[in-house]
Amino acid sequence: MAKKDIDWSNLGFDYLKTDYRYVSNFKDGAWDEGEIVTDNNITMSECACVLQYAQTCFEGLKAYTTEDGRIVCFRPDLNAERMAMTAKRLEMPVFDEKRFVDAVVEVVKANEAWVPPFGSGATLYIRPYMFGINSVIGVKPASEYQFRIFTTPVGPYFKGGAKPIVITVSDFDRAAPHGTGNIKAGLNYAMSLHPIMEAHRNGFAENMYLDAATRTKVEETGGANFIFVTKDGTIVTPKSDSILPSITRRSLMTVAEDILGMKVEHREVYFDEVKDFAECGLCGTAAVISPVGKIVHGDQEIAFPSGMEEMGPTIKKLYDTLTGIQMGKIEGPEGWVKTIM
Ligand SMILES: *Cc1c(COP(=O)(O)O)cnc(C)c1O
Repeated sequence: MAKKDIDWSNLGFDYLKTDYRYVSNFKDGAWDEGEIVTDNNITMSECACVLQYAQTCFEGLKAYTTEDGRIVCFRPDLNAERMAMTAKRLEMPVFDEKRFVDAVVEVVKANEAWVPPFGSGATLYIRPYMFGINSVIGVKPASEYQFRIFTTPVGPYFKGGAKPIVITVSDFDRAAPHGTGNIKAGLNYAMSLHPIMEAHRNGFAENMYLDAATRTKVEETGGANFIFVTKDGTIVTPKSDSILPSITRRSLMTVAEDILGMKVEHREVYFDEVKDFAECGLCGTAAVISPVGKIVHGDQEIAFPSGMEEMGPTIKKLYDTLTGIQMGKIEGPEGWVKTIM
């Protein structure tokens, strides 16, 4: 199939309307069979539950072209599982996990012409999401829902190399204990808009959030989990019930332990320990790992020994191994890379 005429390597992370999207509706207690449609607009009641009470959740993953010309995606079963968990917490109906993966495959196949070619660094970002669509004015869950998946081509995350970023410890909290921090709900992002704009206005790329109860432990940023490396090469990732379980972070932990033979600790991480780490990175689907060079907390500045020029050596090794697996150059665990076509 002829690819679209797009300058793939200069794409940003913006919405570009592709030809097809997947839609399924939930009504009278059941999901319909779902279909691929062309219309990217949604018509709903002014009183739709999503508009009044933010009953909405989402997922994010990527499809890309491997060197041998296959179109693949990475562990979509985990996105399906996480969305099921999120839906339950928000009193939304679960979209069957197998159907979720089938729908991802179907919508990517339909948009084959929009999947960036190998070597461009660009990918086709896939956005599954679900929301309460019928009118609800008294506070309660909707009774009708829409599940959709759109795709949009996005450019290489690191355009001139992966330069370390400077982040700040936020004065705001991201998630309450026993709250919704561990699910991918839109509401977690609505409340993060002011803190991230404040961080940007102050010259920082991201916010580090601490645990809301004691403000002594590292949680995550607005959209990525932390990964630290100790001076003796141990991988440490923060553990908390209010952190979103990143698929990238979980995959990196497996890569570190089972493939690279590193020691991995998933545990509570006190902010006071951070100054002793050798490397720091943020992990999520978009960047895989983005290196952090410096963390500013009020008057305190923590500059990691890995510096401001490039990724630290251990994080680089993790990055190269996971992206090697994703690109089909390195053999990864069974089932991680799903061939779409
Ligand atoms: C989506 C998300 C991540 C990253 O998860 P991946 O599955 O690795 O993409 C991390 N933190 C938050 C808050 C997120 O919403």
